[in-house]
Amino acid sequence: MKEIVLSGIRSTGNLHLGNYFGALRNFIKMQNENRCYFFIADLHSLTTHPNPENFHENVKTVLSEYLAAGLDPEKSVIFVQSLVPEISELYTLMNMWSYVGELERTASFKEKIRKHPDNINAGLLTYPVLMASDILIHRAHKVPVGKDQEQHLEMTRVFARRFNSMYKVDFFPEPAAYNFGSELVKVPGLDGSGKMGKSEGNGVYLVDDEKTVRKKVMRAVTDSNTSPNAEMSEPVKNLFTIMEIVSPLEKVEYFKEQYSAGSIRYGDMKKELADDICKITLPIRERILEIRENGKYLSDTVINGTAQARESAAATLKEVKKIMGFKSFR
Ligand code: AMP
Repeated sequence: MKEIVLSGIRSTGNLHLGNYFGALRNFIKMQNENRCYFFIADLHSLTTHPNPENFHENVKTVLSEYLAAGLDPEKSVIFVQSLVPEISELYTLMNMWSYVGELERTASFKEKIRKHPDNINAGLLTYPVLMASDILIHRAHKVPVGKDQEQHLEMTRVFARRFNSMYKVDFFPEPAAYNFGSELVKVPGLDGSGKMGKSEGNGVYLVDDEKTVRKKVMRAVTDSNTSPNAEMSEPVKNLFTIMEIVSPLEKVEYFKEQYSAGSIRYGDMKKELADDICKITLPIRERILEIRENGKYLSDTVINGTAQARESAAATLKEVKKIMGFKSFR
């Protein structure tokens, strides 16, 4: 049997290197061998971005960027979360077997309430339940995600196990957070702290033009330490982490040696880094600009993908409701 792979991205802004290397690139590599589902999480975006003016446009933007980066509608089922109402119905049911205490302890919830103290909505609290519903509705085995999603995947496994044991069935598989061939990735931001994120203003977007990429990289935070074998500061470590992801190994080793010798020139390192990022992102940018103009390709992709996603989702939901004791009145 083919393994079921699922991944998704919120429609809250343009895709950045973190999305690409954390989730998208892995997924793209898996398209040939597996049954793959990829979706745009527009419902999740409402927890922080409830703006009707650009809600639909954002979905189209993210969709164009997905396709430009290499998602293939001939190989993968590509759909929009809100167009598959079975996900929301499973989410309602799942809320009956997820506990407020465990949701309150989630790291992402604690971080969100710190960042948005004026809008601590229940959607933020139950974010992991909706995410688990996205995954369990297709009974996925593998979920290509970045390191930031590790805890949510652990919770999804808890919810799956709890359902199986409450109802004495072996229905939901336990999905694994997955990175093709290695550990989960966390792409740091260019501002010297934390991860690259859509709302942090510290990222390189796939749609950025060359001048913008170079400007952002040249401005990345470093330090002024030039003593040999000094301990690396967080911002410099982050710069090396990005370089390890996008550049050839010899280049990384060359600059590490320069660092240890106390003779590193960050300007040179950043120039090389910007070159390597551009090699990856500029061809994608060209395709994004083309695909964005092709309304028919976008709508055909979503209409076709959504029909397939609904078929799989409806089959799972039917079984779940049967297990839970729902019966027809007919
Ligand atoms: P989001 O943009 O938060 O909707 O995340 C979509 C996907 O990109 C998820 O699989 C995340 O784990 C992944 N992702 C987001 N930011 C990063 C990052 N800085 N490093 C690695 N993966 C990331």
